[in-house]
Amino acid sequence: MSFKIGTIESAKNEKKTGYLKVAELPIGDIKLPLTIINGESSGPTLFVQAGIHGTEYPGLKAAQILSKETNPSEISGNLVILQCANVPMYNTKTAFANPIDGINFNRIFPGKPSFTGFYGPGSVSHHITNFIYENIMKKATHFIDLHGGDLPEFCPSFASSSKTGDDVKDVDTEALLKYSLADFIGLRPISQSLSTTGAASRAQIPNVLIEAGGGGLLLKDDVDRHVNGVRNIMRYLGMLEGKPIERKDQQRMGNKSAGIRAKRGGFFTYLVNAGDIVQEKQLIGTITNPFGDVLEEIISPITGVVIIINFLAAKNTGDPLFSISELI
Ligand SMILES: [Zn+2]
Repeated sequence: MSFKIGTIESAKNEKKTGYLKVAELPIGDIKLPLTIINGESSGPTLFVQAGIHGTEYPGLKAAQILSKETNPSEISGNLVILQCANVPMYNTKTAFANPIDGINFNRIFPGKPSFTGFYGPGSVSHHITNFIYENIMKKATHFIDLHGGDLPEFCPSFASSSKTGDDVKDVDTEALLKYSLADFIGLRPISQSLSTTGAASRAQIPNVLIEAGGGGLLLKDDVDRHVNGVRNIMRYLGMLEGKPIERKDQQRMGNKSAGIRAKRGGFFTYLVNAGDIVQEKQLIGTITNPFGDVLEEIISPITGVVIIINFLAAKNTGDPLFSISELI
């Protein structure tokens, strides 16, 4: 059986690569790079996406390695790799959002494309995300979203999955999480969030988001973690030969988390690192004025692991500083 997405069609035991046109600009088109690796024998359809945040480079590099190094003769099923979902972000080196309409793709999934109505959602980001959802994600049996910490962020190795609500499928949801090999893993309930994994959760597709990296850096360890995680999951799914590796030392994150933002504008100094375990009431950062006087002491409201630091020193009132997740 051949496998087709848009204009890219891959026959059995074949690898096909190309660009999918998803939207038009005043001059030119937005095209997404995609690879379909159609294995020799049948099996799951695994959709691996990178670049929903187009400046999280470890995920993008891992997607390139996986598409280049995976041969159809060695896999069962279909491996579908979207090397960069947010091409406008990538092209312009803009953090978090598509600079064309200022939208973070991972807050609107599965998109609300529209050709009518003057106000409300419907802009180009909605058309791109909805194309991905309708034409790629819905054809998949399993979904992996590769991130890597955005330009002003540091993230430790962590992964999170959202349950589908189907007990049989959620055996896979838990397995994707565990076999991602991430240091910190969190299983969430069925998600109402408009993230990629939230949309997968509601579409009953076992899913996992994998993070490692940040700061626009391309560290080999972060890239390897993404590549090894995907390959390990493929072993679990029977898409690659061999037994998946199991880690005994992964730490579980609970559903309680704290997002901490600056109350005062000023110069932010972080006193802990991504991946550190911090205690409730611990001093984890300061905001100072230009003369070095402390305007605000940042105190952790919970005990848990620091999963994101937004490390940019210059902060406005309300700017993000830390995301901390409880451990269970
Ligand atoms: Zn991201």
